[in-house]
Amino acid sequence: MSKISTGHFSIEDLENVQITIGKIVGAIEKKVEEEGDMGPTPKPGVSGLRDWDHQVLSRYQPVYTPMCDQCCYCTFGKCDLGGNKEGACGINLGAHQSREFLLRVITGAAAHSGHGRHLLHYLIERYGRDHPLDLGPSNLLAPNVQMVTGIKPKTLGDLEEAIEYVEEQLTQLLATVHMGQEGAAIDFESKAMHGGMLDHVGMEISDLAQVSCLGMPKSDPDAPLAEIGMGCIDAAKPVLLVIGHNVAGVANMIDYMHENNLSDKIELGGLCCTAIDMIRYQMDKGGKPYAKVVGTLAKELKMIRSGIPDVIVVDEQCVRADVLEEAKRLSIPVITTNEKIMYGLRNRSKDKADAIIEDLASGKEAGALILDLDLVGEVAPRLALKVAPIRKEKGIKALPSDEELTALAAKCVHCGACELVCPNNLGIMDAMKACAEGDLTKFEILHDHCVACGRCDQDCPKDIPVLDVIEKASQKVISQEKGIVRSGRGQISDPEIRQEGVNLVMGTTPGIIALVGCSNYPEGTKDLYRLAEEMLKRNYIMVTSGCSAMDLGMYKDEEGKTLYERYPAKFLGGNLINVGSCVSNSHISGTAIKVAAIFAQRNITGNYEEIADYIMNRIGAVGVAWGAYSQKAVAIGTGCNRLGIPVVVGPHGSKYRRALIGKPYEEEHWKLYDARNGETLPIPASPEFMLTTVETVEELMPMLAKNCIRPSDNNMGRMIKLTHYIELSQKYLGQMPDDWHRFVRTETDLPLAKREELLKILEKEHGWEIDWKRKKIISGPTMKSDVSAQPTNLKRLCKGEC
Ligand code: SF4
Ligand code: SF4
Ligand code: SF4
Repeated sequence: MSKISTGHFSIEDLENVQITIGKIVGAIEKKVEEEGDMGPTPKPGVSGLRDWDHQVLSRYQPVYTPMCDQCCYCTFGKCDLGGNKEGACGINLGAHQSREFLLRVITGAAAHSGHGRHLLHYLIERYGRDHPLDLGPSNLLAPNVQMVTGIKPKTLGDLEEAIEYVEEQLTQLLATVHMGQEGAAIDFESKAMHGGMLDHVGMEISDLAQVSCLGMPKSDPDAPLAEIGMGCIDAAKPVLLVIGHNVAGVANMIDYMHENNLSDKIELGGLCCTAIDMIRYQMDKGGKPYAKVVGTLAKELKMIRSGIPDVIVVDEQCVRADVLEEAKRLSIPVITTNEKIMYGLRNRSKDKADAIIEDLASGKEAGALILDLDLVGEVAPRLALKVAPIRKEKGIKALPSDEELTALAAKCVHCGACELVCPNNLGIMDAMKACAEGDLTKFEILHDHCVACGRCDQDCPKDIPVLDVIEKASQKVISQEKGIVRSGRGQISDPEIRQEGVNLVMGTTPGIIALVGCSNYPEGTKDLYRLAEEMLKRNYIMVTSGCSAMDLGMYKDEEGKTLYERYPAKFLGGNLINVGSCVSNSHISGTAIKVAAIFAQRNITGNYEEIADYIMNRIGAVGVAWGAYSQKAVAIGTGCNRLGIPVVVGPHGSKYRRALIGKPYEEEHWKLYDARNGETLPIPASPEFMLTTVETVEELMPMLAKNCIRPSDNNMGRMIKLTHYIELSQKYLGQMPDDWHRFVRTETDLPLAKREELLKILEKEHGWEIDWKRKKIISGPTMKSDVSAQPTNLKRLCKGEC
């Protein structure tokens, strides 16, 4: 091979010389990929992003709503911290409340990352470390992982380093909850933010692994539609019910049924995220999901009490602690498949399928723990086939008969104990009275508002099984509970971000509303539908996941169509996107990160602070967890908050004990730097909170429109956002908002149809100077309209600073 040595040469000299430039270029690219673009904070420790957190917390200050002012963490206590007294260890009430908040966040994060670790371990064993990550048409595969850890995973094995980082950090955070550690509320808050960030990494790992290995839709706007609702379940067939979050075992059941031609002989229904994930399984090539979604956690006890399931299989998270006891009463065998829930059952993981089936079908044992997921895949369907005829023969009676229903209602002495204990204060007494007289309508309405917690049963002095009464009285309504949900489509793809990123940043697509989380709704499920329909009509991008995604599919318009059938699922304004189960929430934060990376060409690798700053100032997005109840929900929300995305929770969310709320009237909080020159830039007070609670959807809707306003909006974008804010306030609150003028920079920001009317108000009520000939604002606004301004919280990003 010819060699080129130092010195001069001309091209003619190169006759018969081979130059392999490719290798040189390749090596340069590899070097850049490995180290060239690493940001300042790969794998941050507990204090790694503390400055950023303190900056966020100085604008959005914690507001504590203690559930209890005592602490009983250690044997010094219990300590009364009321009136901000200090405990025996010196901690005060504020710090203790933020410690409690932190504990909830890291519990949620641990649930997701524990799920991720379990799945990853299982899938690596099955598919190998080198199995490629395949998320659809995207180069940026793991935005959260890459931004937080600096790792750019390409294979299943690459995800291990990221999950190890999460686990190590969660251990450090849990250690800080121990007595005698942190004493400052603000630093517990920063730690909670850290936990929230880790949560999104853990969720992303879970979903990336399962989407890549289990044939789930890959950024597919045409992901198939599936049936949902208790009314969809064909009780004439043996019914196999799965509950939980980890789909690995369910995937094996589906395979077994398929291979043994049992798919049309067994009805497979699911509750909670396992249900969402099982209708994603092997759906990347289209087709119709064979499994059906029963619904959310609020349907768990209702479904069991109905007596319809012949076998119940549980895995992990949001599974009721009394499933085994409830199922036993109705001779339904229970299989647990995950170390997190074992219910005291005998471990049968190494036994033969025949022996387990025999013991469970005969009733010798009420259930079995089976940790071998291949064995679960075989045992569960075979057991359902065997148990169903036995249960039919036994004539298992679940709900009361018609006569018993009337008699039970008549037993009610209207003492009110059930209403007192009901988390939603439902009108049970009135419904009992009506029911005793043969009128079931009150219970039929109440049924949708009841979250099936079973507390009323526990407190009734007359031993009336109140939940059974509600369910029996609502049989007609339940049989009509048939909806449609789009199976989770996974990540938003790079090409979609390229197309829509500009509209989002300019504000001409008015924002992303992410409707996520659990089913602890204050006023039933229909609120979700009303909210989503209103915002979709207004061209917001609606993103959804988990239980909210399910309940959105339960309502139909006059033509009998659900929202999923009426609205497409692309990443565009006016589209409804179900990303998937709760772990797919990482794709929502991931979308914001992708906009920064792909549309704005920011380096995201190990560069958390800069990306969070970008998102906070430029991407109009608000998360809504209307029925939030779990620790996971608050972890997800807190992860969004660290990234600058505000979150609203329904009224039950106040029980998380703290909100993060800004003070719009304190002008010094609403100033940033202009990165072009480091000058101070006044900004609109939006988002005006990071985490807050509202009571009703009527209040929520204008609030969403307002909190999608960002400093980067161009005039058209601001005009669109203001139009929705004003219209939604008028429609749902019956009045103009009192602060709309604070978001006006020039007359072109004003809603076109109302421009003259609004100019008059600005002149008359706010003293602004108007040039009426040209219909222009001369003076009044505190902010300038400058689309080329570069708003940032970070002084170091300003020109000349570094
Ligand atoms: S941790 Fe502190 S406040 Fe809590 S019980 Fe122990 S001494 Fe009291
Ligand atoms: S089961 Fe339903 S009605 Fe009974 S306390 Fe719970 S929410 Fe209220
Ligand atoms: S607790 Fe029992 S008896 Fe009392 S109002 Fe409720 S259902 Fe009736």
